[in-house]
Amino acid sequence: MAQKGEFDIIREFFQRPVADAGVHLGIGDDAALLAVPAGHELVVSTDTLVAGRHFPEATAPFDIGWKALAVNLSDLAAMGARARWVTLALTLPDSDEDFLREFSRGLFALAEREQVSLVGGDTTRGPLALTVTALGDVPLGAALKRSGARVGDDLYVSGTVGDAGLGLRLELGQWLDEIAPAAAEFALQRLRRPEPRLGLGFALRGVATACLDVSDGLAQDLGHLLAASRTGAVLELDWLPRSAALAGIEPAFADVLALTSGDDYELLFTAPPSARERLAALPVTRIGRMTEVPGLQLWRGGNPVEMPVAGFTHF
Ligand code: ADP
Ligand code: MG
Repeated sequence: MAQKGEFDIIREFFQRPVADAGVHLGIGDDAALLAVPAGHELVVSTDTLVAGRHFPEATAPFDIGWKALAVNLSDLAAMGARARWVTLALTLPDSDEDFLREFSRGLFALAEREQVSLVGGDTTRGPLALTVTALGDVPLGAALKRSGARVGDDLYVSGTVGDAGLGLRLELGQWLDEIAPAAAEFALQRLRRPEPRLGLGFALRGVATACLDVSDGLAQDLGHLLAASRTGAVLELDWLPRSAALAGIEPAFADVLALTSGDDYELLFTAPPSARERLAALPVTRIGRMTEVPGLQLWRGGNPVEMPVAGFTHF
């Protein structure tokens, strides 16, 4: 395995032509120069992925590149921002060209699709870790925060939840013989190639009163929204949107996955009941409502139930 120098790595794998008038200066100088349109705010988010901690060591390099970008773009989506630029701080044990080629292919596959430009970064030697900073813009005052939910608002989530959690269990070798191959493939795809909901975040501007992305599990992330908004919520368990893959497993386990597993990168948001008609056109599901009573109450068929975790043997 030929060892390449830092500058060869940057040139060969990360420097691409940039077609964005807002990039006044990209890779190659001491810093990038970026122009935010008048009347907009710069939206910035950073996330680090550490090998063995945020993804299994054996993860395909393409998927690592995709996911490192996707999780950051998801944060911009949750703010209702337009994603524009990213920087990449890459720490590598060695300059393994096969890894770099696949990693950059995965990263640019998503970056090019979303028209996001890589404008800088840092390349160092050490245990494999990736830090992406995503930058975007949003019209002044239009960003979706965690803090705007009001008592009486409806609670929604996009897509389906729990799939990546099922994928993680499958990746760890659990459950393999109980899940149909097509369902397993779907769940693994959800884990490996998360889809940042940028279009949806955009569409929620002016509609959602609060929003965040589900990275650590719906119940936990909803807790952040409740704390920021100083409200409580009632969540109807049977309303949680589940994929066919999750519908195929034991209901109690599906509940636990949908509520507590991370990595789905769906958007969780609130909106007033007056927005129901408008939201019916979007890939979102109403799952509850915001209450004055603090904390999260789980309901089933209109009656309070306990968090469905205890007594579950598959963990
Ligand atoms: P400096 O020493 O001034 O920090 P570097 O030598 O670290 O500059 O980087 C040279 C240029 O390459 C800079 O423009 C930097 O943003 C860019 N760069 C370095 N590593 C990466 C990377 N992994 N991805 C994208 N750009 C990178
Ligand atoms: Mg540097």
